[in-house]
Amino acid sequence: MSTTETKEFQTEIRQLLDIVINSLYTDREIFLRELVSNASDAMEKVRFQQLSGQDILAKDIPLEIQITTNEDEHTLTITDAGIGMTKDELTENLGTIAHSGSKAFIQNLAESGDKKDMNLIGQFGVGFYSAFMAAEKVTLYTRSYRPEAKSYIWESEGKGSYTIEETDPLTRGTRLVLHLKKDAEEFAKPETVKRIIKQYSSFVPYPVSVNGEKVNTVQALWTKNKNEISDEDYNEFYKFIANAYDGPRFRLHFSSDAPININALLFVPHDNIEKFGFGRMDAGVNLYCKKVLIQEQAKDILPEWLRFVRGVVDSEELPLNISRETMQDSALVAKLNKVVTTRFLKYLEEQAKNEPEKYKEFWDEFGIFLKEGAANDFTHRTELMKLLRFESSKTEADKIMSLSDYVGRMKEGQEAIYYVNGPSREVIEAGPYLEVFRNKDYEVIYTRDAIDDYVLNTIGEFEGKKLISADQADLNLTEENQTENKTGLEGEELKSFNEWLKGILGTKVTEVRESKRLVDSPAIMLSPFGSHSMQRMMQLVNHNL
Ligand code: ADP
Ligand code: MG
Repeated sequence: MSTTETKEFQTEIRQLLDIVINSLYTDREIFLRELVSNASDAMEKVRFQQLSGQDILAKDIPLEIQITTNEDEHTLTITDAGIGMTKDELTENLGTIAHSGSKAFIQNLAESGDKKDMNLIGQFGVGFYSAFMAAEKVTLYTRSYRPEAKSYIWESEGKGSYTIEETDPLTRGTRLVLHLKKDAEEFAKPETVKRIIKQYSSFVPYPVSVNGEKVNTVQALWTKNKNEISDEDYNEFYKFIANAYDGPRFRLHFSSDAPININALLFVPHDNIEKFGFGRMDAGVNLYCKKVLIQEQAKDILPEWLRFVRGVVDSEELPLNISRETMQDSALVAKLNKVVTTRFLKYLEEQAKNEPEKYKEFWDEFGIFLKEGAANDFTHRTELMKLLRFESSKTEADKIMSLSDYVGRMKEGQEAIYYVNGPSREVIEAGPYLEVFRNKDYEVIYTRDAIDDYVLNTIGEFEGKKLISADQADLNLTEENQTENKTGLEGEELKSFNEWLKGILGTKVTEVRESKRLVDSPAIMLSPFGSHSMQRMMQLVNHNL
């Protein structure tokens, strides 16, 4: 009845498919998790359309996921009653890359060793293509929810191109048929498929059946009572919503009625994937109203610097028909954001107090985000400053302290909090900057990243004490350190020595002068404008302008 169009996959997808088809991998079965999660997402979307009053096709068919296996034909079929896809959506969604980190992810996969770890694939918006780990050919039948939508068959062997062809009217949703590879025939066995679904997809919010037998219990975990939920349930739920394969570091489950109705279940993942150079993470909290998904990966529900948090926020007070555009300006969403963020920061503070070791591990992995928040987000700065951690001249190596710890042990007469930057503890301690402080027994914070100095400089003060970089030229330490045996130069001699040195150093320095802060070292380099590392940051910024 119509012609078949052949189209090329985008270069990056071709590259990804090449890897998927030609590599060995650990955990091949995760492809099923990805496809079931797509089916579930598609139904969340249709439910949302339905509740916001849209006219939709076949509005009475049940929202469920049907999986069928056929051992004779070596096929595995996944059917959903979801949102389906139009022809344009097919090429857009299954042919090009939308996600910012996917390119880096694919690059990284390409460069990794013989055995590829595909587990992260879902987090990078390319989960669909994992189907080709098990299938030599994928045939997808789909019809969009829009009443006048046409039906299409999309098909590919994952070798660079795919075809799209119009077909006779189907029912709403998507049916995905995997023609299994010879070595993947286990996935045509119902027992195998049931086991995998139970393992990875028990929290899909819709019934999932395998050859007609229902395999999951549907529940919105966050609306249940805490004491009815086991750690195991929480972990499995987390793995489901975060596409993760390991458990979370922290979880916070809370509900409140005032000032706004909220049910929230939030998780901190084990790893900070931005650290691997995969680019910026997308927001990871889904917004619900009475168990109905309003927005996936809602950007406005938490501040940007909490983008590593995964989870669910449900509020009965949200109007169902809130659109993504109005979301941004919604006073309600801003209120939710404030309440959830404040509660989450309070939770972190409790963790820091009650579980300092766990908190340190968290800090090592995710501290960078809290620094970003402390520097940029004025609303939560006070709470965030309490969560910052550093090494110092009074901690052991690799032990951390807070700014409150510092203030608590400040010496009499000490007016400010001092910090100094260096690449390592050893380098900092061997340098001349600490001498004057050592002499006075003042604690000095060791900052290791350029961003640390930027943060401390921006914060400016903590509990009324100024934060001062120890390599600043005018430290104003009350009585400056007078070295007793003055055998040095004086008067005219000193002046001409300084002039001679300035002559040699030229424009590399603005001034050469006698130091009153040194005890053992012969000379020290100081910065007229904030700390050296601040200066380096400024140079970088100016350079990029
Ligand atoms: P992600 O799910 O992270 O967006 P995927 O590679 O898994 O990435 O899927 C890509 C896109 O393809 C989805 O965003 C969705 O638009 C579309 N899609 C995949 N499976 C389905 C389905 N069963 N029904 C409707 N759309 C789908
Ligand atoms: Mg997906």
